[in-house]
Amino acid sequence: MKKIIALIIFLFLLTGCSWQAKPEKNAKTIIEDRSDIKVAINYPEFHYSILDNAIDKEVQNIYKTFKNEYQNMNSYNNIAELNVDYHHEVLNDRYINVILTSFINQSNLAHPSNTIKTFSYDKKANRMLRLSDVISQPELDKLVPLFQKKLLTKYKDCILMDKLKQTITNHFENYQNFTFNDDDLILYFNPYDITAGYCNIIKINISLDQINLKLPFERGTNSDHQVTKVAAEEKSVIDPKKPAIAITFDDGPSKYTKDILTLLKKYQANGTFFVIGNKVNLYQDTLRTMVKNGNEIGNHSYNHKYLTRVTDHELLQQIEDTQAVITKTTGTTPKLFRPTYGSINKHLREKVDLDIIMWTVDTSDWKSTNAKKIATKALDTIQDGDIILMHDTHSQTLKALSYMLPKLKEEGYQLVTVSELNEIRVLRESTRES
Ligand code: ZN
Repeated sequence: MKKIIALIIFLFLLTGCSWQAKPEKNAKTIIEDRSDIKVAINYPEFHYSILDNAIDKEVQNIYKTFKNEYQNMNSYNNIAELNVDYHHEVLNDRYINVILTSFINQSNLAHPSNTIKTFSYDKKANRMLRLSDVISQPELDKLVPLFQKKLLTKYKDCILMDKLKQTITNHFENYQNFTFNDDDLILYFNPYDITAGYCNIIKINISLDQINLKLPFERGTNSDHQVTKVAAEEKSVIDPKKPAIAITFDDGPSKYTKDILTLLKKYQANGTFFVIGNKVNLYQDTLRTMVKNGNEIGNHSYNHKYLTRVTDHELLQQIEDTQAVITKTTGTTPKLFRPTYGSINKHLREKVDLDIIMWTVDTSDWKSTNAKKIATKALDTIQDGDIILMHDTHSQTLKALSYMLPKLKEEGYQLVTVSELNEIRVLRESTRES
């Protein structure tokens, strides 16, 4: 009998464990703002170790190579920038396709360098997929002429013919970078692989009407295009006669943001979150909670590029893409923008159609891991009307806030969003005039 009970308990524990939900997907963020280098790396973590390790290894390699090459060059006005961005898609709740792109810019380079690396993972089989797992040899044989034709049309100005002949053959090992979606199989090549360097990343789509995948794959199941609308559950009451400050958080969301939201709520505080667009899809619930609790969301670019050095086209794209993904997720469109690396010029001010918000108190919360020190320094400086800069990408920020919030409340501060702080300013000015 005992044995049977033990077996039942054992089975219960075994199945119980497998029922446990996986932790939420994360985006990992590395931001480095120094006088010689600007680094912004964002990449996903899915909690599938084979996939996560492959991505992590690639990112560490890119970061290390960049630093070896460019840090401490100390030449005047010659900042080197590294930006790592990603895109991911889950198909049939089974296949995860990730595209990692890295961008390096420095004035010694003839042109910025862009590279791509893709990852395809099969959750059910728990393995990375190569192109030979996705299509059969006869399909590849069929694909090669289709691919060549498209390539010669789309990139005719920069094709290196000898490299094309060597590479675009019916050998699977020549096709390292690929993804697929409901419509297409997509193949990518890096600059210099088959084209001149200035031609950027090569991307060719082959319709799945022309090529058969050998994977069990059902097309047309991906229909996540609806806008979700959420609203603040309570209207916050502001009093222009009482002191007020706005705490702002940059570079999120991250795995710490949810706890920051809980903490803010506990102290009836609202914050303003300047989010990076490419992370929003991994934190949809977090963004919706932000709005429901009465916080404000601002735009902090799509992938944290150094925006005073990009073309107008890219600047506007960075802002629009972020506006779009936030609107789709929450139903609310941001009115505020915070420049990346705090870098701003007249041109950016003219081009950006949102209110540009800087800060008056910098907590430097990313520099120190000592939460108490961060909190004390901030509390010593904060005055009525201040905008406080913090980052919801560090555990010490969460901890520092847990010291700061009760203290600020005790001192009688209203902890409001940036827009509410502006409202207070306007109300105070109007009472002064009348
Ligand atoms: Zn930032």
